[in-house]
Amino acid sequence: MPTCVQCGAEVGFLGSLSFNKQTGRCSKCDSETKQALTRFSTAFLYFCSDGILTAEKWAKLSAGAAYDRLNINEAKVFIRGDVLNLLDRLLTFATANGYITEAAHCLLYLLPPCYRE
Ligand SMILES: [Zn+2]
Repeated sequence: MPTCVQCGAEVGFLGSLSFNKQTGRCSKCDSETKQALTRFSTAFLYFCSDGILTAEKWAKLSAGAAYDRLNINEAKVFIRGDVLNLLDRLLTFATANGYITEAAHCLLYLLPPCYRE
């Protein structure tokens, strides 16, 4: 029987039916993680509603993810589409104005290697 990577519980026969083999989590942890990822995404969009992601805002987002026991890399992958949308807006602005903002620089720095495929 598989063991959940999040809570360490060994799932029984019934648990193995709903066990997420991709993430290695039991159904309870999988559901909690999905909710936490949704909260992270909502918070990201809220913080970036003015089109700026500062290091301070990112620190708050990271702290929220840590509080929710989220893997920060998994959280970054989850908001990939939102990050790319924001980056697109910032780069369009930078092209129009001839300079790259600190926010765009900050966002580029955030992108983990998995975003660059
Ligand atoms: Zn679990």
